[in-house]
Amino acid sequence: MEKFRMLCTIFLVLGCFIAITYAVTVVIINPTDLSIIGVTVPPYTTSGGQVPLTATVKNAGSGYSFDSNFYLSENRIFDPSDSYLWGENTSALTLGKTQITKPDLVITGVTVPLYTVSGGQVPLTATVKNVGSGYSFDSCTYFYLSKNRILDPSDSYIGNEYTSPLSPGSSQTVSYSASIPSGSSGAYYILAKADGSNGISEEDEGNNIDFSKALETFVISPRNTSHAGIALSFDDGKYIDDWYAIRLILQKYNAHATFFISNLDDVNQSDIEKLRILQAEGNEIAFHGRYHLKAEEFLQTHSVDQYMDHEIIPGIDLMKSWGFNPVNFAYPYGSADPAANQALFGYFGHVRGIHNNNWNDDVYYTYGSNTPFIVSMGIDFNYGNSDESIYAGILKAKVNDKILLIYGHKPVPNNPGQYETSYDRLEKILQYVSDNNMKTYTISEMD
Ligand SMILES: [Zn+2]
Repeated sequence: MEKFRMLCTIFLVLGCFIAITYAVTVVIINPTDLSIIGVTVPPYTTSGGQVPLTATVKNAGSGYSFDSNFYLSENRIFDPSDSYLWGENTSALTLGKTQITKPDLVITGVTVPLYTVSGGQVPLTATVKNVGSGYSFDSCTYFYLSKNRILDPSDSYIGNEYTSPLSPGSSQTVSYSASIPSGSSGAYYILAKADGSNGISEEDEGNNIDFSKALETFVISPRNTSHAGIALSFDDGKYIDDWYAIRLILQKYNAHATFFISNLDDVNQSDIEKLRILQAEGNEIAFHGRYHLKAEEFLQTHSVDQYMDHEIIPGIDLMKSWGFNPVNFAYPYGSADPAANQALFGYFGHVRGIHNNNWNDDVYYTYGSNTPFIVSMGIDFNYGNSDESIYAGILKAKVNDKILLIYGHKPVPNNPGQYETSYDRLEKILQYVSDNNMKTYTISEMD
């Protein structure tokens, strides 16, 4: 009996040992224990469209997990009628860890114009990209005006723009028209912040901001706006038909221009009729040399008196015989000579030189200053000035209450070449002048 009891105890101990061993073995052969603790979807979507989903996956086991799959179901029970949508790799989950697929919104670019007027509107864009592993719901991109490139409490919030849901890796460029506060002056930066309202839970909450290039902001003083404008002129004798063809463009913008005539011996009666009509419509007909001589070259072998008697005085007389009274002169090739200037000032109120693309202060005229020697900036294709740089020049004239002098030769409907200005550029210039409540002047009207 005693032996039997001992044997039972041994079996009991052995049984316990086997049971314990078995329990350990169960843990090893069933290592993972995955559960879903949350699935998010938007409230509605369109059939055939994309829908952002998130799921939080938890592994309560001690082993590694594999993929987790999403299915579309008409009920809340998983059965063979449900459609497989997509699988997400959750293999890195170990005991007690959760993996949440999160989006991560960043700004990959902010664009601004080169300049704007304080108190005016400015067009902005920002590109928002989801660099995270999860889908992003729709969000708001915020814009700030900053003196530096860092968002701090001194920066002004200037607005926000709705941003669509973004799948991982995708991006959207949002556009916004912002008001620049009155009194802003000098260089500013536009900061764009993805998920500006912090409504999206992201992988990294500290990488939402990027900045633009510098935006130059000008203050316009109301007392300084009375005479700001442009003086647009065109040169040479062979483009009279092309000048006549832009009459409607000039009229559309209520603009006046100055036409400097050269090569007078080639001007025919039909040209003279067209010039008369241009003059009757408020444009100025001025003088550009009887033979279009390069003054500096001619004066190397001739005196100023010879220059006046050959190139200037007979040309004035010829124009008077056609009924014009030229009171302003533009040097052919911009080839100006100081001694010739003194002689020319006896016949003309203004004598004009040129710049091709160096925007010096001398292309800005002070209204009523009677400055005899003036300089004009080229707008023809070959001078290399962009529309933006011409706008900047016009705006500078506005800010400083000046008249910007610009000139070209042949207006053409499109595809401008050497010594040609496109109608598109001409209209953009006149529209910009009009938008800024500036004037157009003939050379005589500048006083
Ligand atoms: Zn010329």
